[in-house]
Amino acid sequence: MSGRRGRRPVADPAAPADGEHPEASTRTVSPVRSEEDAAEASLRPQTLAEFVGQQATRENLAVFVQATRARGEALDHVLLHGPPGLGKTTLAQIVARELGVGFRATSGPVIQRAGDLAAILTNLQPRDVLFIDEIHRLQPAIEEVLYPAMEDFQLDLIIGEGPAARSVRIDLSPFTLVGATTRAGLLATPLRDRFGIPLRLVFYTPEELELIVRRGAARLGVPLTGDGAAEIARRSRGTPRVAGRLLRRVRDFASVEGVTKVDRAMADTALNRLEVDRLGLDAMDRRYLRRIAEHHAGGPVGVETLAAALAEARDTLEDVVEPFLIQEGLVLRTSRGRMLGEPGWRHLDLPVPARQPDQLDLLRE
Ligand code: ADP
Repeated sequence: MSGRRGRRPVADPAAPADGEHPEASTRTVSPVRSEEDAAEASLRPQTLAEFVGQQATRENLAVFVQATRARGEALDHVLLHGPPGLGKTTLAQIVARELGVGFRATSGPVIQRAGDLAAILTNLQPRDVLFIDEIHRLQPAIEEVLYPAMEDFQLDLIIGEGPAARSVRIDLSPFTLVGATTRAGLLATPLRDRFGIPLRLVFYTPEELELIVRRGAARLGVPLTGDGAAEIARRSRGTPRVAGRLLRRVRDFASVEGVTKVDRAMADTALNRLEVDRLGLDAMDRRYLRRIAEHHAGGPVGVETLAAALAEARDTLEDVVEPFLIQEGLVLRTSRGRMLGEPGWRHLDLPVPARQPDQLDLLRE
């Protein structure tokens, strides 16, 4: 078995399974799932055809699903990576549905013991989809249990301790692991290499989000006009989860104020009251941008320094705050740290300095 790491007896790690970005989920524009998002289940697309955007990913998955169904085999393992809220869980569910197999979901931090994973794996039916969210947060000892399971559909467990310990091998039904992570680079290489189908999800265009908002409004019975939908879409940070949440908040304002039609002006008023600005940025984003502008003259500044100054976890900045700001060019990630891009200065209504990063010959990461 090439490339497989040496097996060690599996210890019971005591680390708590805390949420990855607890502070980030309280923001209205946070792409991280919060309790309030339970309502989003009703907005989830059910089929690949209903799934808006991510065209390349969708088309590839459709081919793989069709070929796999024809062969009657389990689909190869799929790794979905991209910022939170872009549809990784949704796609995993759709894949299971389109394959006509069962779906079981768990997440990296929830699996504390090898026995937890063994229980899940041994209960899978042939060709089932097992979805592991935040797979980069699996304990290394548990990853090692996963390797032979992914490769050979076998489970090697060590039972007992000390001289009485013995190894037991269990055959598993062939299954498909769909792993989700915010950044593929966070995964240990041997784990990443075991996914035959790595797929990257990207931010949605305003047009795609507008379609998602329209469909959501129809399902929720919100009397939304075309320009109202466009306004919400434009301020959703390229993220369907944010679009759904903003739509529900706008609906709240509209129903309290007894409005019968939610147009651009109504959406604009509601979103301004939520302090979501014209680009979809909130107070946290603006604090981040201002910090670079005002305390570091536009940067470069290291992400650790920013995290400490803003009292945020570095992971939260890298996974939740920065991806959209970088995609919009508001922030540049260079080899020497973060810098404010020209649109960043403009967004803060600050004069753009004469020396911009592009002229500074800075390598981008
Ligand atoms: P992730 O797992 O990447 O954090 P989810 O799959 O939970 O994201 O998606 C968040 C919500 O966004 C879903 O409940 C769904 O309502 C909505 N959503 C995601 N992708 C799409 C899409 N392509 N079309 C319509 N709605 C979507």
